[in-house]
Amino acid sequence: MKRKKRDCVAQSDRTGGEETEPPGQVPVAICEPPPPIRRMESSPNQLSPGHSPASRFRKSVSNLFKSERSAAFAACFFPNSKASNWNDWRWQLRNRVRTPAELKRMIRAAPEEEAALSNPERRFPFAITPYYASLIDSDDPQQPLRRCVVPCTAEGLHGPGEEEDPLGEDGQSPAPGLVHRYPDRVLFLVTDFCSTYCRYCTRSRMVGHGGPGRNDVQTWQRALDYIERTPSVRDVLISGGDPLTLRDEQLEWLLSRLRRIPHVQILRIGSKVPAVLPQRITPTLTRMLRKYHPLWMSLHFTHPDEVTPETTEACERLADAGIPLGSQTVLLRGVNDDIDTMRRLFHGLMMARVRPYYLYQCDPIVGSTHFRTSVQKGLEILEGLRGHTTGYAVPHYVIDAPGGGGKIALVPNAVLGREGRNLLLRNYQGHTCRYPDVI
Ligand code: SF4
Repeated sequence: MKRKKRDCVAQSDRTGGEETEPPGQVPVAICEPPPPIRRMESSPNQLSPGHSPASRFRKSVSNLFKSERSAAFAACFFPNSKASNWNDWRWQLRNRVRTPAELKRMIRAAPEEEAALSNPERRFPFAITPYYASLIDSDDPQQPLRRCVVPCTAEGLHGPGEEEDPLGEDGQSPAPGLVHRYPDRVLFLVTDFCSTYCRYCTRSRMVGHGGPGRNDVQTWQRALDYIERTPSVRDVLISGGDPLTLRDEQLEWLLSRLRRIPHVQILRIGSKVPAVLPQRITPTLTRMLRKYHPLWMSLHFTHPDEVTPETTEACERLADAGIPLGSQTVLLRGVNDDIDTMRRLFHGLMMARVRPYYLYQCDPIVGSTHFRTSVQKGLEILEGLRGHTTGYAVPHYVIDAPGGGGKIALVPNAVLGREGRNLLLRNYQGHTCRYPDVI
């Protein structure tokens, strides 16, 4: 990824004291207001090479998540932080970019971003981890990663057919935080908190709003009670918000309660954390997770620029813990809606031991028009991948049907017709092939 040199418009550091672990046992919400920003006087760009904060940061960086990009960014915007701060996921959460003023220190806001950031009516909060902010282009408002996390005025428009809850999840909820749509599995929304908010989020109606009773043990218990008294449920997908933003003991509390239910065979976790907060994937976490197999993970990735050395390391740790990893990608206009970008993303994920699993047509949430492509575009991308690369790198392309109809898989039409007993098929090169069908 080509990166432009950043100007340090201003600097701040909020390293402060370490967050103390909240008391164990009882799960609580993790979100805390950030400490105040302390502005610094000098600019690291004025320092001589070799004596810059970036070089000092690099010298002390651990072997786990070393990257020139992170070092330069941290030196610029968090000059008093150490590598151990940067590599601490709790530090990353405490120092999330959450206000327009913080963000505008790091990027030159375009008019449509500026207007959205200063709009008090903005319905969906924004937050970006320092790590993910280090991947954002400070000058280009069209950079794919920037478009995914920085608000713009288009998300305030209500397009035709768009709804707050297009998948009808609220109508298929037998208990708070639980969605029971398919016969043998449930979606368990255990938190409304994410470390970084995606502007196209299907659950923007509920995530990041600090809604009542989402993250507390009483609410979780009501969902667990429903699962326990419903023997048809053999598979539980833990999602949110992002469940990997819970503390280890909170997550273990949930996993252990679910494992006690005899008919629950499969546990799955849906998360974007490896892409936006890879520091969260600690050896302690993976040691805990491996106790609850069979445990699978669906990881949310959008663009090949997210597949960094840090993210790859995080995915490898999960894979080494025996967790099968699949990816979920939303098809987004101007972000990943071309064959080359998708191919690079899926190849990068396979190198990180993540199997591309689902490519989603963007759900028609309110304010998503600028992100949505035609379905034909998705089919073209699928056609450009299938046969041209390994089938492992070709995900299922699905529409999550509005109104709660569930996922519907779409494939380019390969059946051209019949010729006597032969089925006429179109191969990946566009050639017609004949298969002697059994009639
Ligand atoms: S990580 Fe998932 S739940 Fe959180 S904002 Fe992004 S899409 Fe929504």
